[in-house]
Amino acid sequence: MSNNLQSVRGMNDMLPQDADTWRFFEDTVRGWLAAYGYREIRTPILEHTGLFKRAIGEVTDIVEKEMYTFVDELNGESLTLRPEGTASCVRAVIQNNLLYDGGKRLWYMGPMFRHERPQKGRYRQFHQVGVEALGFAGPDIDAEHILMSADLWKRLGISPMLELNTLGDAEARRRHRERLIKHFEANAELLDEDARRRLHSNPLRILDTKNPAMQELVEAAPKLMDDLDGESLAHFEAVQKILHELGIEFRINTRLVRGLDYYNRTVFEWVTDKLGAQGTVCAGGRFDGLVEQLGGKPAPACGFAMGIERLLTMLEIEGVNGGNHAPDVYLVHAGEAAASWAWQVARSLREQGIDVAMHAGGGSFKSQMKKADGSGARYAVVIGDNEAADKRLVLKPLREASEQATLSIDEAADILRNK
Ligand code: ATP
Ligand code: MG
Repeated sequence: MSNNLQSVRGMNDMLPQDADTWRFFEDTVRGWLAAYGYREIRTPILEHTGLFKRAIGEVTDIVEKEMYTFVDELNGESLTLRPEGTASCVRAVIQNNLLYDGGKRLWYMGPMFRHERPQKGRYRQFHQVGVEALGFAGPDIDAEHILMSADLWKRLGISPMLELNTLGDAEARRRHRERLIKHFEANAELLDEDARRRLHSNPLRILDTKNPAMQELVEAAPKLMDDLDGESLAHFEAVQKILHELGIEFRINTRLVRGLDYYNRTVFEWVTDKLGAQGTVCAGGRFDGLVEQLGGKPAPACGFAMGIERLLTMLEIEGVNGGNHAPDVYLVHAGEAAASWAWQVARSLREQGIDVAMHAGGGSFKSQMKKADGSGARYAVVIGDNEAADKRLVLKPLREASEQATLSIDEAADILRNK
């Protein structure tokens, strides 16, 4: 296949052999979100570029170099494939006035697009589940989000570790920013190109660097924690108190700043050492200024997003079995009369709730039985001209050593339903 007919680099197909795990994940997630009273929201995959610039911040990795942005030739508008879900979600909430009667608990799931260097755990189209609580100011909702995510790991059978930090309020970040600039200016020769560019526009982002050569400098930088305002400190302590009461373990990581501009106060990440360099599976925190920044009436907010591909890899490593969603029955038939009867058998079984893959394309009984085995179905229903004449069928277990039996449709349906 020529290169330009293949999928775009970093954008992957989800193949049937992985579908059971995806489905297990999605079903688990839907049940989990319902258990906490969150409602789904779906927004378009394309938005005006300005939305992401405003929400995420001009001087961030995402806006500077990761967005798929293009001009709509029909009207000259600049559009962007969404790189994350919070900006769109907040936009939709403001545009549709969803906060008119108080706070809202929302979630979304779907593809996100970032022009990054593809590698394990890092793709150009990837998928996130995101959770947002808009209109809630108290530490209880921060704790709810952390509790929820901890509960999801339990439901999925994985165990990442929690890291927690607080970014304080705008004033504390301004004080911290000045101390940071001083610290980095004093060590200007150690800064890489990104860091030099961000030194005055967004020095906080330098702390988020992945450049190993800068880790020591970043370690030695002044900590925001030491500049924290009283209210943010009280908020942070209240969150920690709830986590202690709930028995949720965490580590405070004062270097945790998150790659987007809109965060304040609580930030957290769930990390694992099982995925190599791409170890963050879930990240979030509070963003009290974002609703107002995007043109809404001021409303506090908190949320988090998780990377589905990374979580699925963790499930695989932990040997979590996504279950089997193969059909119940593979229907084997040979002969003309058998085929007409087979159509009716398949329809009737499906009406009774049995999933049936009906053999297509002819062939001998023997070759069809091979297909039946490969289909993953637990039973074959076999129909020849004799069965067609008697209006019956042969039910043959494929995964256990019990005997086959000649039955009516209803008898077969009874057995299949009870298995
Ligand atoms: P990273 O530091 O790994 O680049 P990030 O801070 O850019 O992550 P967020 O914007 O917080 O990531 O997105 C939340 C989650 O989405 C991440 O923790 C990760 O699990 C997942 N994620 C982010 N970017 C990618 C990507 N390019 N491919 C796959 N998953 C991703
Ligand atoms: Mg990133």
